[in-house]
Amino acid sequence: MKIRAAVSRTGRTAPVIEELDLAAPRADEVLVRIRAAGVCHTDLRAHQGGLLPTPHPVVLGHEGAGIVEAVGAGVLHLRVGDHVVLSGSSCGVCSSCRDNHPTSCLEVMPRSFGGQRMDGSSALSQQGLPIHGHFFGQSSFATHAIADGRGAVRIEADVPFAIAAPLGCGVLTGAGAVLHAFSLKPGATLVVFGAGSVGLSAIMAARLAGASQIIAVEPRPQRRALALELGATAALDAGSDEVPAQVRQLLPQGADFALNTTVVPQVYEWSVQVLAMRGVAAFVSVPPIAVQIPLQTLLSGARSLRGIINGDAVPQRTIPLLIDHWRRGRFPMDRLITAFGFEAIADAFAAIHQGTVIKPVLLMDPS
Ligand SMILES: [Zn+2]
Ligand SMILES: [Zn+2]
Repeated sequence: MKIRAAVSRTGRTAPVIEELDLAAPRADEVLVRIRAAGVCHTDLRAHQGGLLPTPHPVVLGHEGAGIVEAVGAGVLHLRVGDHVVLSGSSCGVCSSCRDNHPTSCLEVMPRSFGGQRMDGSSALSQQGLPIHGHFFGQSSFATHAIADGRGAVRIEADVPFAIAAPLGCGVLTGAGAVLHAFSLKPGATLVVFGAGSVGLSAIMAARLAGASQIIAVEPRPQRRALALELGATAALDAGSDEVPAQVRQLLPQGADFALNTTVVPQVYEWSVQVLAMRGVAAFVSVPPIAVQIPLQTLLSGARSLRGIINGDAVPQRTIPLLIDHWRRGRFPMDRLITAFGFEAIADAFAAIHQGTVIKPVLLMDPS
């Protein structure tokens, strides 16, 4: 079928919408009419090339939401007409998948960034030439996408697509880090570095989980104010070298958990310095240059530092749970979103690059 998709080609400042051909879904896939797709920093970096190994030309987009139009024979949990949020892709049979950690699937890197199915094929083409796709098992900067069935999560039909879409990555990454990776218990303390969509989702989740203190560290005053509205108990200006000492003034024994949602080299060390004994720091993205963490800081406090992929969540369980909390007013994820028409994808890319909005969401034409 003919679709319209935003294609990233080397040298372009933003993806450009072109007409492409989309093949039918295979047994483990679904065809989804995309209605909304969030834009994430990972899309920006994959578009620019360099750090991420995604080949061009490619259709990016990994926070899609829409309506199922065709279902592969092997996808048993979905029907035509179901509304879905698209999360990442997983194999279903590796040790991580069997242990219910699909976001840490052994094939997570090629399935997320490879630009193709595991057999090297792509459902996308243009005049007979293949276009890379299957980005995070979806490539949802398009009117339609072939999505990995395992990553497609059914949602109720009354949930607005624009609000649901970021659950596929950004919101899941922040909330999952707190609820799954940290398993934060009532009374625990948390420092969140960066109050973007991931950090603010972590703050909302920490409030839900009953954290006693939630400290946001963020350079932009408006984002510090929003962090306080959404559940932070204190918000510090990240511009100062005094940040670890300022955290210690609020939490003399240090924090139980620290989540670094930035790629600022200095913050990786700060995230460890603010920890209490046996505290756990985590990061969700890598810095542009190598960083050094003094091992003494880890050993002397029996502290840990770990990476987390997509919140270490179980999307099929966590996404409906977060929607339920949103419905009850306890997880106001709609506060993070700024909508853009699909045609304005270049504006959305510029907005996330400049940090003028927290979570741009593209709205595809409903016709
Ligand atoms: Zn797997
Ligand atoms: Zn993302």
